Amino acid sequence: MATTKKRELDLKDFPPGTVTEFTTLVCLACIFDIFTKQLGLAPRTAFSEVKRHTPTIEELTSRSAMRPYFDSDEKHPHCPYCQAGKRWLARLDTFCIEGGKVTDAPRRTLIKKLPKADDQFVVVEKKSDSRAVLFEWLDTLGLNLDLNDERWLLDATRNYLERREPKTNWEEIFAETRAVRRSNRMTEGWERDGARLFLAPNIYGEAILIQYLVSRSHTHGGLTLEGRLTLMDLIRRLRYIGYLDHVGISEREPGEVFEKLIDHLVSTHDWSRVSTGVRTGSGSDRLTSAAKASKKSSKKAPKKLSKSRTSKTALPEPDQIITEPVKLYYLIDRRDFLEKVKSVYASYA
Ligand SMILES: [Zn+2]
Repeated sequence: MATTKKRELDLKDFPPGTVTEFTTLVCLACIFDIFTKQLGLAPRTAFSEVKRHTPTIEELTSRSAMRPYFDSDEKHPHCPYCQAGKRWLARLDTFCIEGGKVTDAPRRTLIKKLPKADDQFVVVEKKSDSRAVLFEWLDTLGLNLDLNDERWLLDATRNYLERREPKTNWEEIFAETRAVRRSNRMTEGWERDGARLFLAPNIYGEAILIQYLVSRSHTHGGLTLEGRLTLMDLIRRLRYIGYLDHVGISEREPGEVFEKLIDHLVSTHDWSRVSTGVRTGSGSDRLTSAAKASKKSSKKAPKKLSKSRTSKTALPEPDQIITEPVKLYYLIDRRDFLEKVKSVYASYA
């Protein structure tokens, strides 16, 4: 078998956070079973069908894998559906590369270098608009928070602040923070006072908006630092603390206000990259920043880039980011899959 070292793709030319790696295992015993028993194909036909098979992006990246796909962090995994062992299991790696100026050249170079035969690598392009990117971010964040543990409100706030002000070491600040409050004094920035973190009203408003968005599908309304809020409550709160005025939302109809709030979030922060602060999991770590050399995901929080700053800083509203649809390139590595299909078929022949 080829050495794994040689097989790893060289992604060092991609800026950190622009490539996301997904790994899934597929059970060939299950696939053959589906093709031969359920669909009634002869082994030879099943073999050629399976060989051609490229899973959908959803199958490769979804967090709830379905037979014959599954996730496992174990060193010697077994298929959860049929208990098949190692030689029946193939690994499919998917690299999601964000399109853009900084990744176009390294992406073309990388793809040019890859072997072409037998569709060992397949590239699938997908457009993702900036709203979808925001909702994906919220979705990932929600999956990684335990909404039954009140601490999640702080975690969600920290994740949002990491987006808003990425150079600050929020992990360190939140290590000692027990409560987040709206400041009556400051109009900008934030300040820590012992175990309490005070946020200027506009930042606080956005933090509760994020909390609402993360939790609203979980239960009725959304849970926030202000308690459980319906959309109407949230809008009233945001109007009261001056957030709506601050971001220039004068609409009255809740649905329109909501749309404007989303537009504002989308256009002022960059949600597109894999956040260093969002830890993925839901039992298994499918999502990992491939820019970090290690091939398997890590559950530890990645290292922070910046030095700590204790308290008080005033920040201007981040500049408007011009939003465009983001193009995503999914590079699917089928090498292990093809090899395993061949060796498994040999045992049928
Ligand atoms: Zn199986």
